Amino acid sequence: MKFGGSSVANASAMLNVYQIISSQKCKKLVVLSACKGVTDLLIEAANLSLQSLAKSIEIINIISEHHKQIIENAIKTELRWNAMDEIGKLIRQIREYSEGIFLLQELTPKMLDYYVSFGEKLSTTVFYYILLENKINAALINSENYIITNSKFGEAEPNYPIIQSKVQKELKPQFDAHDTIIAQGFIGSDLECRTTTLGRGGSDFSASIYGLALDAKEIQIWTDVSGIKSADPRLVEQAITLDEMTIDEIRELSFYGAKVLHPDTIKPAIEAGIPIKVLNTFSPLEQGTIIKENNQASEPKLHSISVLSEVTKLHFHLDAKRNNNLQIVDILNYLIRRNIKILSSSQSETSFVLFAKLENQQINNIIATYTDFQVEAIKGDLICLVGNNILLDKELLAKLIKKIESYQIDYIQFGINKQLSLLFSKENTREIIERIHSVIGN
Ligand code: ADP
Ligand code: ASP
Ligand code: MG
Repeated sequence: MKFGGSSVANASAMLNVYQIISSQKCKKLVVLSACKGVTDLLIEAANLSLQSLAKSIEIINIISEHHKQIIENAIKTELRWNAMDEIGKLIRQIREYSEGIFLLQELTPKMLDYYVSFGEKLSTTVFYYILLENKINAALINSENYIITNSKFGEAEPNYPIIQSKVQKELKPQFDAHDTIIAQGFIGSDLECRTTTLGRGGSDFSASIYGLALDAKEIQIWTDVSGIKSADPRLVEQAITLDEMTIDEIRELSFYGAKVLHPDTIKPAIEAGIPIKVLNTFSPLEQGTIIKENNQASEPKLHSISVLSEVTKLHFHLDAKRNNNLQIVDILNYLIRRNIKILSSSQSETSFVLFAKLENQQINNIIATYTDFQVEAIKGDLICLVGNNILLDKELLAKLIKKIESYQIDYIQFGINKQLSLLFSKENTREIIERIHSVIGN
């Protein structure tokens, strides 16, 4: 069971999580994120440590107060003092590390990973004491001892065989004595025992890695909305919860902006046949969304929309005198060398079109490099439609076109694969999304 930042934001949210956990009468591993906003605060404090120790300590004090407040509100017995003590120790470690950053005048990705790991260490420590207060037979473990990764700080990748062996040998036996084991999401360590993180939103991934290594019956991702929806509810108020969604649909959706689930979460667990559900901590009786494997028969349908803003569309007018493939390879090599991720691309006899997130300076550099042919760059929003085989439903396609006919759309590609279509718009994106969304569920 994984609970995200909003689900453990404060005392009442944590008590809610306690209720959900205790209502499920099986052995369970509970993965927690940092309290909502704390990871961002830690990143800010770490960066501030380079300039002003005092300013960074101010933020650390806010983080400290926040956790102490949860303890005061949720723990009434003498356990309160043990919890305060443990939080005090963690906060001291953050302060000392800030001093280190200030003295060295250095903040490497490795140092930042160690620094931000305290968000999850704090939330799990507080929650552990809340469970003890409520007489739950719980243990708190340190994910740095189990989630072993490579040394790609900030975006570390799990070493599944080592994790599997550690979890089976050292973690699983702890379930003999405990019903509930609490672990930090997001964090791990490399083979040299240095703290790593799995990327922003990585607690979902942690839950999936633990679920796989423990051969769990089910992985539950508890969040602040009632499952995967037909659009980000912050964008489209009428968004509806989808009962089910395929792995590839969710991967496309999150690649194009819907950050409801960390995209690496799903594949390993689903391949091992472990069901994943997305559920609402604040409305636990709703059934949420179940993630299913690809290639299961279902009717053509549009399921969900997401949007990636501030995307650049680059249009290269290819040189008729040169080989197209070589020109395209040359452009791709240029982007690869600069670590620029291509979001989508297509080509024809005269053009090569691609979408990427680019700074203005990067755009200028590209235009200056490719003087042999014309390059046009426009900024806009990439709108992603996911569903099942919408190309097979001509009525649906006609409806979609009708909905957007009065808007200027700069690019449409229907049926990139079975589940994905993309649109690019320079303006009125929100209205376009709302109009497309009105087709869903009709
Ligand atoms: P957590 O902290 O629980 O990991 P996140 O903030 O990472 O939660 O993800 C949940 C949020 O994702 C929701 O509050 C919602 O605004 C956003 N979101 C974006 N697209 C979707 C979607 N298609 N369905 C559901 N939620 C979405
Ligand atoms: N706390 C981490 C973050 O904010 C991981 C997570 O919440 O999943 O990115
Ligand atoms: Mg998340």
